Amino acid sequence: MHQDIERVLFSEDAIRARTRALGEAIAKAHPEGDLVLVALLKGSVLFYADLIRAIDRQIGVEFAWASSYGDGTSSSGTVELKVFPDEDLRGKTVVVVDDILDTGRTLASVKARLLAEHPDAEVRTCVLLDKRARRAVELDADYVGFEVEDVFVVGYGLDFAGRYRNLPYIGVLKPHCYEGGEEGD
Ligand code: 5GP
Ligand code: MG
Repeated sequence: MHQDIERVLFSEDAIRARTRALGEAIAKAHPEGDLVLVALLKGSVLFYADLIRAIDRQIGVEFAWASSYGDGTSSSGTVELKVFPDEDLRGKTVVVVDDILDTGRTLASVKARLLAEHPDAEVRTCVLLDKRARRAVELDADYVGFEVEDVFVVGYGLDFAGRYRNLPYIGVLKPHCYEGGEEGD
């Protein structure tokens, strides 16, 4: 285990099994029609890569970048949306994939933007982690990997100040590691 990690919340094996089940559930729920999976950069990349391999059907792969700026380990509520799919999403089912649902502002903004630009798309959301205790807007993800307690987690795509994204598991950072830093996206 990395020296900055206090405890592991979700092991590689647990993440693998849960991600596979989510991919299978998505494929089963959307057996027909055009299906596009949109990865929210950067945090969802590891989860996304594993998730789409568990979806046994034709899909479209797209990327978006939503950044919420804040101090240290909490987001400010200002969400900047940087990149959006250029693919025509009309009439398609779009599943937006993120690492963690926290206040809900990021996913709510992305969802609203996608629906504004592609009114007849069917927009769904999929997150690996759901931190329900911190929700500030009314939003539930359609597909959730794990519920997580109100602690700041890193690994498997989740960063602190750009670090720890490549840890293969998800863990709680030792408190002394986030004094004075900035979180990423
Ligand atoms: P929301 O808009 O739902 O408040 O924020 C979602 C984003 O906040 C996530 O995509 C992630 O970048 C960041 N975030 C929220 N909670 C955590 C956490 O515990 N650890 C890390 N590394 N990022 C988090
Ligand atoms: Mg993020």
